Amino acid sequence: MFDLPIPYRDELIYSVIARYGVYSLELSPKQLLYNLLGSKTFVAAVALQGHLQLLASHYQGNAKLTAEKLLKQYTLYPLYAPFVHPEIAQRVKNDLLSGNGCSAELQLGKAASVVKSPVYLKYCPRCLAMQLDKYKEWYWHRLWQAPGVVSCPVHGSLMQSAVHVHSLHKHVFSALNPSVLPAAVAEQLPAKFQRLAGYTQVLLDAPEVDIYPEQWSAFYRALATRLGLNHGKHIDHTGVSHIVHKYWSALGLSWLGLSIDDGVDSNWLKTLFRKHRKAFSYLQHLLVLQAFFDEHLDIAGLLTDVSKMGYSQEPGNQPAAPPHTVELAKRQNWQHAVARYGVKGARQSGFADLYIWLYRHDKFWLMAFNQAHTKQGIKRKPKVDWYQRDLAYVKRLIRLRNTLELSLEVPRLTKNWYFLHVNIPLSQIKQLERLPLCKLFFNKYCETIEEYQCRRIAVACINCVRHHHDYRSWRIQRLARLSKDRIRPITAELLGSVVTNEANEQIQKSTR
Ligand SMILES: [Zn+2]
Repeated sequence: MFDLPIPYRDELIYSVIARYGVYSLELSPKQLLYNLLGSKTFVAAVALQGHLQLLASHYQGNAKLTAEKLLKQYTLYPLYAPFVHPEIAQRVKNDLLSGNGCSAELQLGKAASVVKSPVYLKYCPRCLAMQLDKYKEWYWHRLWQAPGVVSCPVHGSLMQSAVHVHSLHKHVFSALNPSVLPAAVAEQLPAKFQRLAGYTQVLLDAPEVDIYPEQWSAFYRALATRLGLNHGKHIDHTGVSHIVHKYWSALGLSWLGLSIDDGVDSNWLKTLFRKHRKAFSYLQHLLVLQAFFDEHLDIAGLLTDVSKMGYSQEPGNQPAAPPHTVELAKRQNWQHAVARYGVKGARQSGFADLYIWLYRHDKFWLMAFNQAHTKQGIKRKPKVDWYQRDLAYVKRLIRLRNTLELSLEVPRLTKNWYFLHVNIPLSQIKQLERLPLCKLFFNKYCETIEEYQCRRIAVACINCVRHHHDYRSWRIQRLARLSKDRIRPITAELLGSVVTNEANEQIQKSTR
């Protein structure tokens, strides 16, 4: 007789029982259930398996596998509980722990929800390869079976198996094996579907919280107000719909079975932002929240925040605001920091404390601001008006040149020297093709080495005259700081003619 296998991480209870069937080699599904549970009426349920106390009794003494833990870690119950009235969640929990769980789906409104359950069990081919490598067998991961999850958070698209979620044979637990997998190639989906799957996994792992419908109503009202999606007391439904459509696209929404018809006053998105008279699926909540916050969404933290929100039981009363502090100066500081360093850069440039403060006290504003800024950052490219820049630079250069007209003692006039002395960033030297006026200026006024050497000879000659010295080759070279090795031919020629002229003049003077 085999024991019920220990579940792998995030394995469905359904899958654990299916593996038990494989190990025990029992071909009759009813006999299998009788051997395991002493019952032939036990019904297979993929998302929400019942009789958990009975199943947990097989793990006697294992504190990690109590009935409650089986419910939270190995069924899809955590995806539904935070989004229905806590009393309903409690009834469903009791039903799944001690009963057959048949009414669970009805109570959760799952069957009536606009979100359709998957028809076939899904799987990720690449995760299967990893499972085989690690465990030498395959199992059904619960995340794959969540409605609306079409992608593995790590690898991309999920595939449909041949196993029906609601099999006609309600006592059959189908194991994941090659015979149920079609030979097809998974197509690659946009990254946002992968992110959605990631958030679904976070929901599955999130601590249990009680959230009342009034708290959800108050949360969405407050959210719209914080994001400026309101006209006074009224929600700007068009603005909300625009953001959700822009993020998911009409096609994406229809693909997830959650199209939004803006012309219909009772479309699900509008009712989500009104008083909650019925529960919404986790998928509806996630689609909206991900469209608003994208990669900045902290869904687990958000559930905790909403569960602590105050709310008014009386219709028409103002919903009490959640714990929330606004410090405009702190918002402004963050805006300046982001403008300078970007969202990620600001946190790494000494503004991490400010970020944490805002995250704790002003989270919705922070997330919305960061989200908007990240997107703008991608689109916005600095536009340089090169003509205006060229004109401004060349004016500065010409002014400097005019002041230098009569100064012979300045260092060699190079591009670098000009740039440094008119405060133009040196990086702009590489942009000279875009600065034609500056280029013309440099062609005209920058000195070659020869020109600079000749200027130094001129200065040296002036100094000779000033101090009544004869022009001697060695003297001029020393005054002009010119070594024989470095002197250029044309400079040497000039020096030679200066000295020769002076010698001729001396001869002429002496012969007069
Ligand atoms: Zn995967």
